[in-house]
Amino acid sequence: MTEIAKCIGCGAILQSDNPEAAGYVPQSSLNKEDVICKRCFRLKNYNEVQDVDLTSEDFLNMLKSLHNEDGLIVNVVDVFDLEGSMIHRLKDIVGKKKVVLVANKMDILPKAINKKRVEIWLRNRAKDYGLNPDEVVLISAYKNQGIDELLNTIEKVREGKDVFVVGTTNVGKSTLINKLIEKSVGEKDVITTSHFPGTTLDMIDIPLDDDSYMFDTPGIIQSHQMTHYVTDKELKVVMPKKEIKPKVYQLNEEQSLFLGGLVRVDYVSGGRRSLTCFVSNDLNIHRTKLSNADDLWNRQIGELLKPPYNPENFDFERLNKTEIVTENERQDIMISGLGFVTVDAGAEVHIIAPEEVEVTLRTSIL
Ligand code: GDP
Repeated sequence: MTEIAKCIGCGAILQSDNPEAAGYVPQSSLNKEDVICKRCFRLKNYNEVQDVDLTSEDFLNMLKSLHNEDGLIVNVVDVFDLEGSMIHRLKDIVGKKKVVLVANKMDILPKAINKKRVEIWLRNRAKDYGLNPDEVVLISAYKNQGIDELLNTIEKVREGKDVFVVGTTNVGKSTLINKLIEKSVGEKDVITTSHFPGTTLDMIDIPLDDDSYMFDTPGIIQSHQMTHYVTDKELKVVMPKKEIKPKVYQLNEEQSLFLGGLVRVDYVSGGRRSLTCFVSNDLNIHRTKLSNADDLWNRQIGELLKPPYNPENFDFERLNKTEIVTENERQDIMISGLGFVTVDAGAEVHIIAPEEVEVTLRTSIL
């Protein structure tokens, strides 16, 4: 029987197929002795966290073991892609634990936005997922905004207990943890990885005081996040990096907007009105007549309408049409991973998008 090689740092089974998953080492190191995985290597040498992503089976195990732990849950979400970054089963882990909801990437939202309103809005959205956070903190991990407030809030709410930081992939959890490490740890060697109780998972733990720790849990993969089906080059264009400048379009009925070549917004009825697009400043928006839209999409995909850069990767057979009517109030049409379009009441709008992309309607953040 051949022995299964494990990382001597964290115990994860070594593999060289997936750099994002636990236990990754380059192929050339696989058969050597005393190997540590890339993640432990970076932790040891640079004091830098790299997130591993979990499959749903690992995640279920983590859920079960977290459920029985006492402590504080710190749930990091992406304020720009809230629906894409909420963990659908989080309420199963929470039990009686307190929750701090951390909305990251605030730097992407327009500066003029009312922060108090965003906070109330986040609390209401959290309720839709069965969560009732004890505190909501708005931050930008990237810009180092709100980190001190977050640390103070955690200290206040945790009541001396352990802290578990959870989040889906790409919400900026590693960026945040690295900021927290910088702030709370002076010496290098105090950060360790340890097996999480009841699982084979390795977690980063950061000491908070003599007998409690902050645990960084692996990122949970959310299959409908846009990040999983566009290329890296496309993602650079699609994912906003800095403050979004909303683009306002005055539309007549039967006009369409293309968001790059990935998604089409058909304004069907509701009189002349404005639609406001909150998407990456680098994403090109193209307006046309609805009657021309099918033809234009087919002819100009990858050219005028891009990304996608390679039209062969775009499958016109696998598009979904979501028909939306905004009824009583201003609403945001959420296009997961891409952004949102804000529409006042009384409009019929159809969204045509790849079937992996979730389209949902919510009370406007504005
Ligand atoms: P993780 O998968 O949750 O650990 O996420 P990462 O920390 O790797 O971040 C994912 C992406 O979001 C990276 O491109 C980061 O640069 C970006 N990011 C992280 N925090 C922020 C933030 O506060 N603002 C903005 N605009 N981008 C961020």
